[in-house]
Amino acid sequence: MNKNFRKAMIAVGVLAAVVSGTSHAAFPDDKPVTLVVPFAAGGPTDKVARELALSMGKALKQQVIVDNTPGAGGTIAAKKVMNAKNDGYTLLIHHIGMSTAPGLYRNLGYDPLTDFEHLGQVADVPMVMVGNKDLKAKNMKELLAYIKSKGKDVAYANAGIGSASHLCGLLFMSTIQQEMTTVPYKGTAPALTDLMGGQVQLMCDQTTNLAGQLKAGSVKAYGATTMQRIAAFKDIPTLHEQGLKDFQVNVWHGVYAPKGTAKDATDKLSAAIKAGIADAGYKAKMADLGANVPNEKNASPAGHKAHLKAQIELWTPIIKKAGIYAD
Ligand code: ASP
Repeated sequence: MNKNFRKAMIAVGVLAAVVSGTSHAAFPDDKPVTLVVPFAAGGPTDKVARELALSMGKALKQQVIVDNTPGAGGTIAAKKVMNAKNDGYTLLIHHIGMSTAPGLYRNLGYDPLTDFEHLGQVADVPMVMVGNKDLKAKNMKELLAYIKSKGKDVAYANAGIGSASHLCGLLFMSTIQQEMTTVPYKGTAPALTDLMGGQVQLMCDQTTNLAGQLKAGSVKAYGATTMQRIAAFKDIPTLHEQGLKDFQVNVWHGVYAPKGTAKDATDKLSAAIKAGIADAGYKAKMADLGANVPNEKNASPAGHKAHLKAQIELWTPIIKKAGIYAD
């Protein structure tokens, strides 16, 4: 190959790369976006994710597919997305666990504030303390007496360290000054099956998972984790009004991309989230499941990041003070 010919070939190569680079810059291209869910299929996070995948997909004009990667309270999925290609096609949906994990895990392996692009919050979900329907306790007072008499013989289910159900249980046990035996699952969908089957007695879970059972009366509802009663379940008293003063857990959910994802992609994804949560079908579904759609500020990337930071600052000292950790 003579020198000039080689130079010409290199120039053609560079030109081709520039042209193809330009044509691939538009996001989303012809492949679907994957939304990684850190808990088992059929559970509360999964339900929000699947609704969002539909409405976001409509806005993006591209399919959004759900990938369940459960385990270790959601931290396995977070690491998976942190290490994924930062091209906008792999996203994480995670909840309040993003803000509790830094306090709970001694070797977390990621920083929720600096290892991700924050795309926006998508749902706020209240929780309800529920029990197997054959429990004799009719209300919180009787439940507390039951827990006091049985102690560690009471099995409390959760979705692993760092999950919302874990956090709610920790707060509950420290508020009532009584330990129970905790039983971790890969999500609260399988935990709920066992609770209904009587293998475990209690669980604190999100209304997005419990709505059907609460409406059917197939579990016992002992109290909501909100200061005001939940609009969709007005007959369930709050834990606060039953003497567990200021007991409050609000399970906010947000969407993340790996750090360094191009601005063109994050802008389009954030816009799709904004449109997705404003979608009438999404709103109706959330209302039916007892969940709220976040305000415009929290649904924005900056609002999401600021809220995450404030939540890390809120939960880390509470967790450290309680002396709870995982490796
Ligand atoms: N999000 C739930 C929790 O943290 C678990 C799940 O989605 O299955 O308890």
